Amino acid sequence: MIIAVDGPAAAGKGTLARRLAAELGFAHLDTGRIYRAVAAKVLAAGRDTRDAAAAVRAAGSLKPEDLERGDLRREEVGQGASVVAAVPEVRAALLAFQRRFAEHPPGGQAGAVLDGRDIGTVVCPGAEVKFYVTASPEIRAGRRHKELLEGGERSIYARVLQEVRDRDARDSGREAAPLRPAEDAVVLDTTEMNADAVLATALGHILSRHPAIRP
Ligand code: C5P
Repeated sequence: MIIAVDGPAAAGKGTLARRLAAELGFAHLDTGRIYRAVAAKVLAAGRDTRDAAAAVRAAGSLKPEDLERGDLRREEVGQGASVVAAVPEVRAALLAFQRRFAEHPPGGQAGAVLDGRDIGTVVCPGAEVKFYVTASPEIRAGRRHKELLEGGERSIYARVLQEVRDRDARDSGREAAPLRPAEDAVVLDTTEMNADAVLATALGHILSRHPAIRP
């Protein structure tokens, strides 16, 4: 069974995907990490993430250990990821890995939860369950800002909001696999919901549609 969780930056899709996988005993793949790893490799090579040829080379030579780099959560890497993610050849190079993970979850688990931007629309259009997790840009920026402060980093709310808006514009405006809900996705607006409520709603939906699944 494949569960697709898509949505814009900082909407809570990663948290939902991780918790769903833990509840159901499924494997979890954060596909944003793959795009971040490509951007981090380009930056580490001293290149600009707008250098499409360098991005395609980085995507083609990606190794499992690149996904474990310590710098992947940095804002610069997130912004760079949304730049390299707009290059169709980069997306094509990363597709097979994501599909293999979804169809043959490592460790022989009974299912996989993938979170990203285009899982329900492009990577796994046949996924049994699709969620589109969203929230207002102000709420998402507020959550990211709080997370940064709590992690001991310096953060200015207005700047975080601008970064959220920039990334939304790039992810929704690109031609290759733009961010949008799949037609058959259940939309979860988390503006007024905490993480527990989002998990309970998503699990309720899965169990009502697939009663054979046991958390
Ligand atoms: O989810 P996260 O913020 O880690 O993703 C970083 C960037 O990677 C996104 O802004 C998006 O441009 C890109 N991405 C994508 N398709 C995915 C996952 C992430 O284009 N499936």
